[in-house]
Amino acid sequence: MQPRARAHLSADALAHNLRGLSEHAGVPLILPVKANAYGHGLKEVVRASRELPQLWGYAVAMPLEAAELVALNPGKPVLLLTPAAPDELRELTDLGVLLHVSSPDELAALPPAARVHLKVDTGMNRLGVRPEQAAEVGRKLQERGQLAGLYTHLASADDPDLSSARRQLELFAQVRAELPGVPAHAANGAGVLAFGRLPGMALARPGLASYGYAPAHLAQVLPLRPVMTLRARVGAVHTVRAGESVSYGGLWTARQDTLAATVQVGYADGYPRNASGQAQLWVQGQRRDVLGRICMDQLMLDVSGLDVKPGDWLEVWGEDSIRPAEVAAWGGVAEYELLTGVGTRVERVLAD
Ligand SMILES: *Cc1c(COP(=O)(O)O)cnc(C)c1O
Repeated sequence: MQPRARAHLSADALAHNLRGLSEHAGVPLILPVKANAYGHGLKEVVRASRELPQLWGYAVAMPLEAAELVALNPGKPVLLLTPAAPDELRELTDLGVLLHVSSPDELAALPPAARVHLKVDTGMNRLGVRPEQAAEVGRKLQERGQLAGLYTHLASADDPDLSSARRQLELFAQVRAELPGVPAHAANGAGVLAFGRLPGMALARPGLASYGYAPAHLAQVLPLRPVMTLRARVGAVHTVRAGESVSYGGLWTARQDTLAATVQVGYADGYPRNASGQAQLWVQGQRRDVLGRICMDQLMLDVSGLDVKPGDWLEVWGEDSIRPAEVAAWGGVAEYELLTGVGTRVERVLAD
């Protein structure tokens, strides 16, 4: 059976972004590939990136993702960014996954062979040991030969006002001074773009920026390229007569006879339902309006005056058509949500 929607992934764009970000940060990168590589497809993203010298390793959010990633033989370290359950620690250690520690209570359960990047909470208040505890926990890990890295996460690096990010980096610098020589990392994508080189850092962890997206006020820092182009197939074409309505709730009524294409992508594929009323697709070099409510599996598009046939592929978003940021704004979601929401029915296709 054929897919009805495809996410085309550009290996060139990903490599371009990783090179640019690594050069800007002055350090090798950890590529976050959590949530199916931000919706791009774990397998495809690993295949496109594992040979890149700018890439030190990968980061995931769940033990399940760590196991999936190791099974793909990435040939690089895999860092787990959240606590594992005690009964998962042995398997993760056997897989060679770098574990997360965010509390002194977690040390006792660590298998002897475990290697850890210690997380320090400098202000995000999500995970990590408090800065005043970090040196003690770090030294305990060092005594056990388990401390492989030290990191923190910035809560507001995407804010034009960097004062809180600076405060976090300041706290982190104090911790690093107490644990000298341990490879450290702090910057997410916005942090890399906003700060560039950060003294004393060994690595950086840009996620969304690696996939080609920057906060608007940082868009000029580096020429990032969107990695994903989403396309969907036309299932049928029909005429809506003047006065007739389209889709659930009849939200849109034709003022004149309108040629409508039923396109096989819907909110179950990640196209935001709340974009109904504003959404557009890219057809033969033009923007065309989505008619009425977006359905689970399909949406209807005004293709009046165009030669569109069943089986044609239309562009839902991409580098040279409609940017994901715009679609996300129509749907009232962040680009992160839009991309991670790209569904499992969407085929991922990796190309140069
Ligand atoms: C997701 C994540 C990142 C990447 O964040 P972006 O905003 O996508 O650059 C970095 N570090 C941690 C701990 C994360 O959870």
